[in-house]
Amino acid sequence: MYQHAEALTRLMEQFARLPGIGPKTAQRLSFYVLNKMNPVEVKNFAQALLDVKEKITVCPVCCNLTDITPCRLCQDEQRDQSQICVVEEAQDVLAIERTREYKGLYHVLQGRISPLEGKGPGDLKINELLKRLQTGKIKEVVLATNPDVEGETTALYLLKLLKPLGLRVTRIAHGIPVGGDLEYADIATLTRALTGRREV
Ligand code: ZN
Repeated sequence: MYQHAEALTRLMEQFARLPGIGPKTAQRLSFYVLNKMNPVEVKNFAQALLDVKEKITVCPVCCNLTDITPCRLCQDEQRDQSQICVVEEAQDVLAIERTREYKGLYHVLQGRISPLEGKGPGDLKINELLKRLQTGKIKEVVLATNPDVEGETTALYLLKLLKPLGLRVTRIAHGIPVGGDLEYADIATLTRALTGRREV
């Protein structure tokens, strides 16, 4: 069987390993790199791939992804230091920031309770969250896990832990379709979900 030059085949194989990219797309992308991108663009692309693994770490305070410690959000004194919004993943922080509705701090759990994925509370950054609450500065915790089964389970678990601490605990409203993903919610829907959050 005819095969492309080895370097081209290797690039196709690498693209095909990415989620949502089948062999046809992998081939199209590889030819694009070969024919349409100049050497500087290709170098920048390759460097960006290396940098994302080498320079990004986890913020020791909020567990968000960052290239400085603590992260920019934790360092920003303009933000409301009395609120923490708890989300599953770093992408959710970006989604909520896009709404410009929320001005407080964040905490990234780095996952959700999901027996199917073999993830329990011990796998999440919950102890880190509890430690932050000990300072007494936090007045409200917004539970912004996804509105699906795992997200609700995680929110309920956190509620049981947080309620005895005498904090205001709120849950984002169901503006987001059940089973939906925060990351993919449109800005208007997510804004409604945040403003409509209710005490739980
Ligand atoms: Zn941080």
